[in-house]
Amino acid sequence: MIIVPEREIANLMTRDAAFDAVESVFAAMASDDAYNFPVIREAIGHEDALYGFKGGFDRAGMTLGLKAGGYWPNNLEKHGVINHQSSIFLFDPDTGKVSAMVGGNLLTALRTAAASSVSIRHLAREDAKVMGMIGAGHQATFQLRAALEQRNFEKVIGWNYHPEMLPNIEKVAQEAGLPFEAVDLDGMIEADVVISITSTFNPSIMAKHISPGTHIACMGTDTKGKQEVEAGLLAKSTVFADEVAQSISIGEAQHAVAAGLIRKADIHQIGAVINGTHKGRTCDTEITLFDGTGVGLQDLAVAAAVVKRAVEKGLAIHVDF
Ligand code: NAD
Repeated sequence: MIIVPEREIANLMTRDAAFDAVESVFAAMASDDAYNFPVIREAIGHEDALYGFKGGFDRAGMTLGLKAGGYWPNNLEKHGVINHQSSIFLFDPDTGKVSAMVGGNLLTALRTAAASSVSIRHLAREDAKVMGMIGAGHQATFQLRAALEQRNFEKVIGWNYHPEMLPNIEKVAQEAGLPFEAVDLDGMIEADVVISITSTFNPSIMAKHISPGTHIACMGTDTKGKQEVEAGLLAKSTVFADEVAQSISIGEAQHAVAAGLIRKADIHQIGAVINGTHKGRTCDTEITLFDGTGVGLQDLAVAAAVVKRAVEKGLAIHVDF
């Protein structure tokens, strides 16, 4: 068995490798070569923690395993460790023997950023110039860094419910050599690509804030009840998802489907666009919307890539188990 500790992940995983791993597994999901298992998420009644498992099997990449972890709200204050904690376990699909244990904290941010990036690569207009960010928390910085590599952006605009957090994303724009402008929500109309990555339960983004031809990646809604965008925006958009079942149950589409504005059949797998079985964007005025809910197979894909690199670089810890 191989162990790749959390402290090694930053040295091993690149944004490009995360992108390739996530793009491949989305493609495998759409061709029915990979599937996610039902998600377990439990309030364990200790430390107010939410703990759970996300797993799956990718027959194309021969990756089997799970991510275990969750959210411990008191961690930072009481124990000096971050509140989100996760570890990824991989198993040999031929024998069921555990093959690797990999730190999952940084990988979660990288695989989530890779998902919106994959959607931008495949769905945004080629001539996209203005990148719009809704959200400025932990995930937002990873999202923006990866997104800026997908098109020749000339400017970043941002809005956040807590404006004092905006310098987090301004710094990323500056590192990429791009001007940053804080805008109100009406100002988002200027964006060609928008990423939303907030933890809100009340939508901030209304249909009127998004102009024709925009690609929007909704990445924050990953739980029943959360909502970042007005349901009517989904009715005006061509909607894609990492996984349709999650999109309608815990993703952004849960609200539009419940309101009868769109049907499950109106949501397309992003993997179908990657595989060329769905045409994706059809014109420059179409709004495309990616509902990225976060699936276990993304975690397994990046973990498998990390294990490979750790072995190549001699950084893998081998344990007789
Ligand atoms: P964070 O706590 O660092 O940041 C939270 C963000 O939400 C900030 O921008 C904050 O200003 C904003 N926010 C909080 N309350 C708000 C409100 N009432 N209205 C509008 N905005 C509000 O969190 P994070 O780690 O950056 O995670 C952001 C979201 O992404 C969470 O909902 C998290 O569950 C989700 N997430 C999704 C995936 C996925 O795969 N789709 C993966 C990881 C995290």
